[in-house]
Amino acid sequence: ADEIKLLAKQAIEQLDDVLSVTIILTAHNQQPAQAQKQGSLLKPARHIVAVASGKGGVGKSTTAINLALALAAQEQRVGILDADVYGPSLPRLLGLNRKPATENKKLVPLIAWGLQAMSIGFLLEEDTPTIWRGPMVMSALQQMLRDVAWDNLDVLIIDMPPGTGDAQLTLSQRTELAGAVIVSTPQDLALIDARKGLNMFQRVNVPVLGIIENMSHFICPSCNERFDIFGHGGAAAEASRLGLPFLGEIPLDMAIRETSDAGTPIVSADPNSPYSAIYHQIAEKILVQILGQDRKAPSIVME
Ligand code: ADP
Repeated sequence: ADEIKLLAKQAIEQLDDVLSVTIILTAHNQQPAQAQKQGSLLKPARHIVAVASGKGGVGKSTTAINLALALAAQEQRVGILDADVYGPSLPRLLGLNRKPATENKKLVPLIAWGLQAMSIGFLLEEDTPTIWRGPMVMSALQQMLRDVAWDNLDVLIIDMPPGTGDAQLTLSQRTELAGAVIVSTPQDLALIDARKGLNMFQRVNVPVLGIIENMSHFICPSCNERFDIFGHGGAAAEASRLGLPFLGEIPLDMAIRETSDAGTPIVSADPNSPYSAIYHQIAEKILVQILGQDRKAPSIVME
């Protein structure tokens, strides 16, 4: 700054009719949350999208993996990071229990269905409980972003732990998130929890890309009748109340449950199923939003 000040002063002094020069420098004042982020931001991918929910068991991980696969089908290089250090689910979802290799002191992500995948669950024995306190969770997460040899990722999907704890805070402060997607079941209670998650991202200036209603309804395979087991439409109503995009509804279905728990996610195992089509539509909506952040406004040429 001092150098700029001196050069500007000298340049102006040389102009005719200038008697004296006083230069004052100002800097653009950043938002507190952004200022905190400065310095050592971790950038494992061009776009990082967090998939979050207010509470466990709403199908967040199932949704995250199928969205990751749908994004990969759209010519993106996609990684998935299981940030749930207490209850990692990526080993189950991908049917993987190998230990990742180490190369140049970095963990090499496992490759499954074309995705680069990393989870604390790949490193621990299956039945070992993770008993960690907050600071350990934060440092484990930072390591998974920094010390994993993610290879030229367009998009990194982060499967967040449920709730609004240390992991959420670490990620929103140590990385530049393109946005967060909130998964909720239709019940009010889940939505109250989901709302807390929403508020948390908004407080730390992370854009919320939209809400997905999972287990939205059930079509009985024998009678074809539709049942709204957990009610229906709660997430869409909440999204419109909050002015957020509603990204879509995923039904409750055996095929999703079975493929998800067998390590063969439906978008890859059965790409032509109607459920895969739903995940593709949601992925498309997410992609438009995150790539839109990169796109420059078209310039108009007058002739
Ligand atoms: P979370 O990550 O929110 O804890 P999971 O993705 O692990 O939830 O899902 C919880 C259980 O619900 C799993 O057994 C999963 O297979 C099942 N599940 C998730 N979404 C659906 C769905 N749309 N239809 C049927 N089962 C589902």
